[in-house]
Amino acid sequence: MAGPIIGIDLGTTHSLCAFFNDDGPVLIPNAHGEFLTPSVVGVTDEESILIGAAARELRVTQPEQTASCFKRYMGTDRRLTVGKTTFTPIELSSLVLKSLKNDASEFLKQEITDAVITVPAYFNDNQRKATKQAGEMAGLKVRRIINEPTAAALTYGFHDREAEKNLIVIDLGGGTFDVTVMEVFEGTLEIISTAGESMLGGEDFTDRIVATVFQKEGIQLETAELKQPLRVARLRQECEVAKRTLATAGHASIRVPNAAGEFDAESIKFKLTGDNFAAVCKPLFERLKKPIGKALRDGKIAPDQIDEVILVGGSTRMTALQDFVKEYFEQEPQFSFDPDQVVALGAAVQAALIVDDKAVDDMVMTDVCPFTLGVEIAKQFGNRIDGGYFQPVIHRNTTIPVSKEEVFHTIAPNQQEVQLRVFQGEARKIDDNLDLGELTIDGIPPGPAGQEIQVRFTYDLNGILEVEAIISQTGKRFSLVLTQHAASLTESEVAEAVDRMQNLKFYPRDDLENKKLLLFCERMVGEMSPMDRETLESAIDAFISGMESGDEETFERMKKGLFITLSALGIEYDEQDQTEK
Ligand code: ADP
Ligand code: MG
Repeated sequence: MAGPIIGIDLGTTHSLCAFFNDDGPVLIPNAHGEFLTPSVVGVTDEESILIGAAARELRVTQPEQTASCFKRYMGTDRRLTVGKTTFTPIELSSLVLKSLKNDASEFLKQEITDAVITVPAYFNDNQRKATKQAGEMAGLKVRRIINEPTAAALTYGFHDREAEKNLIVIDLGGGTFDVTVMEVFEGTLEIISTAGESMLGGEDFTDRIVATVFQKEGIQLETAELKQPLRVARLRQECEVAKRTLATAGHASIRVPNAAGEFDAESIKFKLTGDNFAAVCKPLFERLKKPIGKALRDGKIAPDQIDEVILVGGSTRMTALQDFVKEYFEQEPQFSFDPDQVVALGAAVQAALIVDDKAVDDMVMTDVCPFTLGVEIAKQFGNRIDGGYFQPVIHRNTTIPVSKEEVFHTIAPNQQEVQLRVFQGEARKIDDNLDLGELTIDGIPPGPAGQEIQVRFTYDLNGILEVEAIISQTGKRFSLVLTQHAASLTESEVAEAVDRMQNLKFYPRDDLENKKLLLFCERMVGEMSPMDRETLESAIDAFISGMESGDEETFERMKKGLFITLSALGIEYDEQDQTEK
């Protein structure tokens, strides 16, 4: 029997997966027994691939051996180098997905093949296609791509079928920001409008702190990143922890590493308070206001008509963000579900909807298309004809799936060919919109200008576009296999990448926890006084010998010894998660 369809939240900083069973949506733990898998890929010195917490540990001491935040580059030409290998963002995402797939197969004790993957609502067509390809590259059949805020709403909807209200989901993750306005009534969840920014998230808030610390030394963050990468990596880790500490303690202190990236006795401490954090992040809060305003305007709804504000994404834990939301909507936001988990749980609810699970047979959900989609047209001004204008075919926030037809005309007599260029965006001129591809319509019969061409846009439930054109006079059809742009790969490129990915050796799953512990201890070595350093090093060496001895009992003894050493040195190693606190 085929395993269940799993729901995957493929995040910029963390990824999770869930499945649907008799109790509703349930999260799946990874090899460390945790639900959150850091979206970090690493390559060890022995060329094996590390995913998740162990890779994140590696990132602190050997950033060049790791890649993170690659979700930000989905749908672009960007390549990332990890150790000796260069990867596309699609390949890196596929490695994370593969690791989640393995976790799910392990947990459910059957091979998992199908998945629903979530994307930010504001992901464009290229980014969606890239995500789908990443899934396929990981050996997953991608049954549906759904928007993250929609998934979050599905979790709320699943647990509160009777509700009748207007909701707004504010989703601020590590790298993206989404706002979605929706209405729920009698189990029907209708998405009204959505807006967002695909380059705004918690990482930018951390960067503001990092930049402020460097500013004190008169150094630009960009310059520091080039000249002192290790120092920046270490400081960023410190700032990240401080940012999280603010949420509970109200203030935090940041150790500033020296030029070599090490912490020493003279390490300066930088004090961070809630007030100065809010002040340095003010420009980011200003940026948050725009998509919120746009979603409300598009949804024709005023802030005081919103009955409930749902916060999603790790960054909504920031007190400054909660204060901002409270002030904007004049109400307390909702936190009934863990903001980290709600999207993956919703993806599992979507999986249940796909297989018509009885538990959801009274639920209906409709989503919208987040952008306007259209074609390039020429406009006539007196005798002059100017190209480069954008003519919408499907307007943003139209309920999907949708199919719309528009008729266009040739502009010159005996014009035999039309280059139909497809764009996505809100600007009047095509140059300011995103180029999705083009279609050559040829074989137009000779005749005067004004020959009819019917153009049909079909936007499916995955948020992926298909374009079809017909020359009215002859009935000749053209369908758009969009000329491949930066975003996605051609079929042969995918096949080649799949091959390459399959030949990569994953670090053995069963040993991941030990590898993470080892990397953590190695990092700590650099922070110890000379004497403590020696103590820790011998415990690490013993642990490694234990690992290599192949004898379970010896290994357990050495591991225990290592923990005893750690605690004697006053080092806290939380097996659950280092930076979650
Ligand atoms: P994504 O979906 O993009 O992976 P997440 O929803 O996992 O993102 O959120 C990750 C972001 O949340 C990170 O930028 C992290 O710094 C931030 N974050 C997590 N916990 C806290 C906290 N307690 N306080 C402030 N920020 C937090
Ligand atoms: Mg997320």
